[in-house]
Amino acid sequence: MKVLVINCGSSSLKYQVLDMTNESVLAKGLVERIGMDGAVLKHEKAGVDEKFVLETPMKDHKDAIANVLDAVVDGEHGVVADIKEIGAVGHRVVHAGEKYASSVVVTEQVIKDLEDCIELAPLHNPPNLQGIAACEEILPGIPQVAVFDTAFHQTMPPESYIYAIPYDYYTNYGIRRYGFHGTSHKYVSERAADILGVNLNDLKLITCHLGNGASVSAIKRGKCIDTSMGFTPLAGLVMGTRSGSIDPAIISFISDKEGISADEVVDILNKKSGMLGVSGISSDFRDIGEAVEQGNERAELALKVFAHQVRFYIGAYIAEMNGVDAIVFTAGVGENDIDTRDIICQELGNLGIKLDLVKNKVRGKETVISRDDSKVSILLIPTNEELVIARDTYELTK
Ligand code: AMP
Repeated sequence: MKVLVINCGSSSLKYQVLDMTNESVLAKGLVERIGMDGAVLKHEKAGVDEKFVLETPMKDHKDAIANVLDAVVDGEHGVVADIKEIGAVGHRVVHAGEKYASSVVVTEQVIKDLEDCIELAPLHNPPNLQGIAACEEILPGIPQVAVFDTAFHQTMPPESYIYAIPYDYYTNYGIRRYGFHGTSHKYVSERAADILGVNLNDLKLITCHLGNGASVSAIKRGKCIDTSMGFTPLAGLVMGTRSGSIDPAIISFISDKEGISADEVVDILNKKSGMLGVSGISSDFRDIGEAVEQGNERAELALKVFAHQVRFYIGAYIAEMNGVDAIVFTAGVGENDIDTRDIICQELGNLGIKLDLVKNKVRGKETVISRDDSKVSILLIPTNEELVIARDTYELTK
């Protein structure tokens, strides 16, 4: 069976077509600038170097998906002879609130439940739902599955997810820690067990998804017991442009000082803070790394603040789980940034966490990077959220 995986952002759409008989990726691509001037689809067929690029107006996600499907069945660039070969579509959906702790086949009730979650993820759930609606229209009768970023974290105990604010805010408005990047944390934790040759039920893991957005999770016996993101993906670690957790009183203080609304302050915390805010240079760790090499002190400070925060969560989660067997690095920074991994792991030796500086000189490859005498294994595992979405979609619809 072939599965189409779709990940809709507000003006972009990523997709993959996988053959689930051997989990191979037949084609993948990206549509950008949906609903704007200069909309473009870039389609890659496995084994073909040259990308197929289509520049054509796409007013909404339905237009984008129609173009994706045309590319998928195209005589030259396509990977199926007939669209009926696509057995199911799997969608990444960011927020399922407390409604779903695992992936589900999309029904009218599921759509209603996800619409109820829009207020929890106003930027993310609407395009996710538009993608589902577009597929229902263009591919009627083909089952669709929703795979949620929040689902994996639903195993957290109340002491991890309850904020110490009046309890009515939780019961009335659903204000609690939800956590995000769940599909990635799940994937790398399962891979870690495979690589270590140990049953996931016997492991205590700390998974560090360090990308433009970043989060750390504590995973005990395969279940998430804590994670750094919160009610929204703004909480926890310092990120590319996001502040991560700060003293909440700062919001009204800045609002008074700058004469701007609380919403505007939160916008600054989302878009102009984090590595960009501290360094004043860029949100991209490659730019920060270059600036550090040129002796830029603010870039160095940003990197130290980031590493301090990652260590902070590693320490906290070791205490929460009463130990750790392995630490996993994944996502853009975790997979590629040798220096940042090195800085994070410095001074953790007394906890039995020893990075091998030679083995650490690697990018984007599944491998062990801890020293042989390290009590705790350190693993580099490239994440693969699309594969998790395709697997769940296949399992629920085959
Ligand atoms: P992601 O959100 O997982 O796609 O990660 C994107 C981020 O990964 C970029 O903004 C960079 O900060 C970082 N990144 C990607 N490649 C490298 C690299 N070779 N070295 C350092 N950082 C990288």
